[in-house]
Amino acid sequence: MVIHSQKETLVQALSSVAKNEKIGFVPTMGALHGGHISLVKKALGENDIVVVSIFVNPTQFNNTADLAKYPRTPEEDISLLKNLNGAVIVFLPEVSDLYDDSVSAKKYNFGGLENEMEGKHRKGHFDGVGTIVSKLLRIVKPNTAYFGEKDFQQLQIVKKLVAIEKLPVKIVGCPILRGKSGLAMSSRNKRLSAKQFKEATIIYKTLKEVRDKFRSTSITDLNALVAERFLQNPNLNLEYFEIANEETLKTAKRKNKASKYRAFIAAFAGEVRLIDNMPLN
Ligand code: AMP
Repeated sequence: MVIHSQKETLVQALSSVAKNEKIGFVPTMGALHGGHISLVKKALGENDIVVVSIFVNPTQFNNTADLAKYPRTPEEDISLLKNLNGAVIVFLPEVSDLYDDSVSAKKYNFGGLENEMEGKHRKGHFDGVGTIVSKLLRIVKPNTAYFGEKDFQQLQIVKKLVAIEKLPVKIVGCPILRGKSGLAMSSRNKRLSAKQFKEATIIYKTLKEVRDKFRSTSITDLNALVAERFLQNPNLNLEYFEIANEETLKTAKRKNKASKYRAFIAAFAGEVRLIDNMPLN
């Protein structure tokens, strides 16, 4: 495993990769867990070299406290990646290396995808995501880049980004990895107390209940059911619940047999914001 902390040395190292060798890319914000590692393993299985970036991107945070408290565990991250014994290159840049003088995001139009759910509740978030993913894809120039369905809206937006910017890369979505309790693995879980960690499983249980009842229950009734579940659990604050069309991410008001739907939840356990989602049909 090789570590680069500067864009120039990474670009130089990648320039000596043979033309017929495939480069996979897994962008992360570190505090790595099983979910990240599942992406890296998939990438290692499909490529000759895998670049894993670890960079907490300031322009995608709309809340300065969230950015300041975002878990940072570079030593553990490096040892987890080393243990994979694969052809991994770790890219650990500084903010100044990727943003030069101006730490700001480009404004994007993702055809409306950016105005739903996370976009409504985290103003400017997807401008920050688009800006950093575009920068990283232009530096690493991978054949394939891997993103988790944990951030399903992000995955759809990244697919749109590479289409808009005509970047020659294949974007692959990977399933959500969950812990034993069903809670989706997340770097932010490290900030939960033992009690909050237990309570947060309501998110998964509610999504599963919605999935199980989806065929037989109207969307209006499912919305009411979810509101009720969160009222029963006052330590978990529901920010939004949405059943949305998988492609447009628009809120579904009623079911259409030809469409695919997914349920999305954002909720706060204390100060910690958690998101999760599940396919419904
Ligand atoms: P992050 O470090 O949170 O920005 O995540 C980096 C990548 O890992 C993103 O593509 C995420 O969607 C993905 N990821 C995060 N958590 C999980 C999980 N539990 N299962 C699968 N992928 C995940």
